[in-house]
Amino acid sequence: MTTESNQNEIVLEGIAASPGVAHGPALVYLQKQLDVPCYELGEGLIDEEIERFERAILETRAEISVVRDKIASTLGEGEARIFDAHLLVLEDSALLEEVISELRQSGMNIECCYNQVAERYMSFFRSMEDDYLKERVADIRDVSRRLLHNLTGTQKVSLSDLSGDCILISEDFSPSDAADMNRDKLLAFATDSGGKTSHSVIMARSMGIPAVVGSHDATKRIKTGDQVLIDGHEGLIVINPTESRLYKYGKLATERKKRDEIIIKIIDQPSASKDGVPLALMANVEGAREMEHVTAMRADGVGLFRTEGIFLRHHGYPSESVQYDEYLAVAEAAGDNPVIIRTLDIGGDKTIGDQHVKDDNSFMGFRAIRFCLENLDIFKTQLRAILRASATGNIKIMYPMISGVGELQQAKNVLDSVKDELRAKQIDFDEHIEVGAMVEVPSAAMIVDLIAKEVDFLSIGTNDLIQYLMAVDRLNDRVAHLYEPAHPAVLRTVKAIIDGGRAAGIPVSVCGEIAGEPVFAALLLGMGASSLSMTANLLPEVKYFIHHVDQAEACALVAEVLALGDTKLAVKALEAFRREKMGSLA
Ligand code: PEP
Ligand code: MG
Repeated sequence: MTTESNQNEIVLEGIAASPGVAHGPALVYLQKQLDVPCYELGEGLIDEEIERFERAILETRAEISVVRDKIASTLGEGEARIFDAHLLVLEDSALLEEVISELRQSGMNIECCYNQVAERYMSFFRSMEDDYLKERVADIRDVSRRLLHNLTGTQKVSLSDLSGDCILISEDFSPSDAADMNRDKLLAFATDSGGKTSHSVIMARSMGIPAVVGSHDATKRIKTGDQVLIDGHEGLIVINPTESRLYKYGKLATERKKRDEIIIKIIDQPSASKDGVPLALMANVEGAREMEHVTAMRADGVGLFRTEGIFLRHHGYPSESVQYDEYLAVAEAAGDNPVIIRTLDIGGDKTIGDQHVKDDNSFMGFRAIRFCLENLDIFKTQLRAILRASATGNIKIMYPMISGVGELQQAKNVLDSVKDELRAKQIDFDEHIEVGAMVEVPSAAMIVDLIAKEVDFLSIGTNDLIQYLMAVDRLNDRVAHLYEPAHPAVLRTVKAIIDGGRAAGIPVSVCGEIAGEPVFAALLLGMGASSLSMTANLLPEVKYFIHHVDQAEACALVAEVLALGDTKLAVKALEAFRREKMGSLA
């Protein structure tokens, strides 16, 4: 939707995805496939073409080395290793010889020949059984893109290497793009498509980067270099904002800052309701580098460690030792507080390069525990790393996307076999490590009593639960209005899961995005959730709110809202309750 408020200023409306306001120059990032030119070379131009190829290889080599060094110094040697693999691909003599022989035989330009040979290599590796060899596809694709950009002289924007502060405008934004982002330079982002609970948005929220998604045509309306203001609270993208608008936003920022200063004062208080009923407030993280902030926000531990973050940053499957280091670093930073490590949840919108989980309808396809149970090498490597880290850290394991008891038992059997292996090698781990399941598939919610018998704790993943329960793709902005956390079906299901867990005597936490929304916090407290796990930034406000609510009031709110049986009325009641409790800070 568009409002033209004066000649220069244009306001586009989208979905408010990650709070915050930013103003700066736009960088339009289009991820469309590179058009590889194909033409016949004139007589006697072969040698010149080979020289051009050699120059592009040198240029690409230098580029990869610079990125490698940068990643090594910022993220560490482990994360940088992927670029060593890229250098090997770039200089692979068999591949290079094949390109030259293709050039001599076909008489076509070098981009065309290189592209054809690289495509052949990728389809060969893709057909291999061996996971390690399959992973090479992503390396070849990345290197060939880089080389082709250099050959064609087209510029590729590298998200890890933004040269100045900017606001990224893109058609879409994948979690692996988000993993590559240089958060120091990226002021905000806006996309044409996407939903509020897409994983790239969740990552933006945890990095404190304002975002607006689902604006439909931002990439068509905005040019690189345009001045843009992103309002992640209201879901607005303002192109060429006027002085008066900037002034208004400046005033709002001062007010928000004052409000945040009042809220943060509560941070050292225990996580509990006004009358002292405990409700642990934990953090959702993607890696160790967030832990400083998590500690500063006084989280009661990590309620959800989305381990895919490590895999996405690696553009592949990190070794056991890389994973071990990361798990241990998170656990050490958490101290005595628990860290719930969720096993790999790829698939859906999180794919690793060209990896074999990319399939149609992937949110309901080959994802999470389904992928792990069919890729036991990858699964066992992760479980070994987690178990070894549990020898020193307060770690728990959690399985994602469990749809039934059989699947859960299979996962537990794999865990038992890894434990046996470690025992045989006399490698230490926590013999009493707790195991939990995410309840995010409606079938698991329906049999929560049976699931609960198998585990030590449950955690409700409302992002997926809502998507599956309501048949609303969490990435699709066209149906975003149907993604309703306050829908009676959602509220009844969440309550039934909490009741089921409590009846079985195990704790139930909530780790989907609603856990960080104050309007839902009191409701979840009233329903009997044992903890809420959220992006650390949101924790102070949830804590402040909970401190102003008595348990009895929260229970009354649950009864009231459930009796309404209507989404809009429920939202109204929840909002009214929040306003009443937050007082002047509402
Ligand atoms: C969820 O589905 O609510 C959840 C926490 O997991 P993710 O968002 O990673 O799918
Ligand atoms: Mg989920």
